[in-house]
Amino acid sequence: MLRPFGDNVSAMFHALRHWRRARTLQRQPIDDDAWNAVVRSLPLLRGLQPDESAHLRELATLFLAEKRFFGAHGFEVTDRMRLSIAAQACLPILGLGIDWYRGWSSIIVYPDDFLPRHEDVDEAGVVHEDDRIYSGESWELGPVVLSWAEIEAQTGSDEANLVIHELSHKLDLLNGQANGEPPLHRDMDPAAWAADLQAAYDDLCERTDHGEETVVDPYASTDPAEFFAVTSEYFFVAPDLLADSYPAVYRQLARFYRQDPRRRLPATIL
Ligand SMILES: [Zn+2]
Repeated sequence: MLRPFGDNVSAMFHALRHWRRARTLQRQPIDDDAWNAVVRSLPLLRGLQPDESAHLRELATLFLAEKRFFGAHGFEVTDRMRLSIAAQACLPILGLGIDWYRGWSSIIVYPDDFLPRHEDVDEAGVVHEDDRIYSGESWELGPVVLSWAEIEAQTGSDEANLVIHELSHKLDLLNGQANGEPPLHRDMDPAAWAADLQAAYDDLCERTDHGEETVVDPYASTDPAEFFAVTSEYFFVAPDLLADSYPAVYRQLARFYRQDPRRRLPATIL
């Protein structure tokens, strides 16, 4: 039976993309020494199983081939910086695939913090950071903007990760608006997602309003989009903290990201 014309075209593009990616993996592999050095420099990659690490390397290879990096203000983005950003950016899509970063292609790297050019989150489709000022920005269909100084300062941080924060905004923006709900998988219940994240968000807002010191950065109480981005950082960088503070949020993120980073933590010595 003939398939509708659109289906044939889309199947053709799919096959073409698949072929191009296979060729990229074959012809532009990441150098062993460079990859090993970047993995050693990033504590959040510790604990990955060999097959996960190999998959992350393939995703990073495709990421480097499909995204273009630009240095702002004459900043030179080196191969090491590109690889470090790619490795961190691909951790959230380890269980999802490179297609989850579709629809945009540029990464602008500032040497230091920068001034945001837009302030409207919803209307302009831009998510920018108010509080952690100017260290990152994500535009719907547009570039991801990062501060290299901030990325370096956070290396080894057990709470924050700017790259994961901004890339999780990209996942959130996939279904149109940054609202803290990325496209959920078919086996997930959107009502349960909304209820679990809302309850934790309300709890954090209440504690923050009362001036309580919170485990999760109060920046997450800015709005639901920031709550998703900040809890995504914790999910990968400090999964035990998130699982202890907001276990239902941890479970939802584990279903969404199709990963359980707590498994990667070193076993506790009793
Ligand atoms: Zn943000």
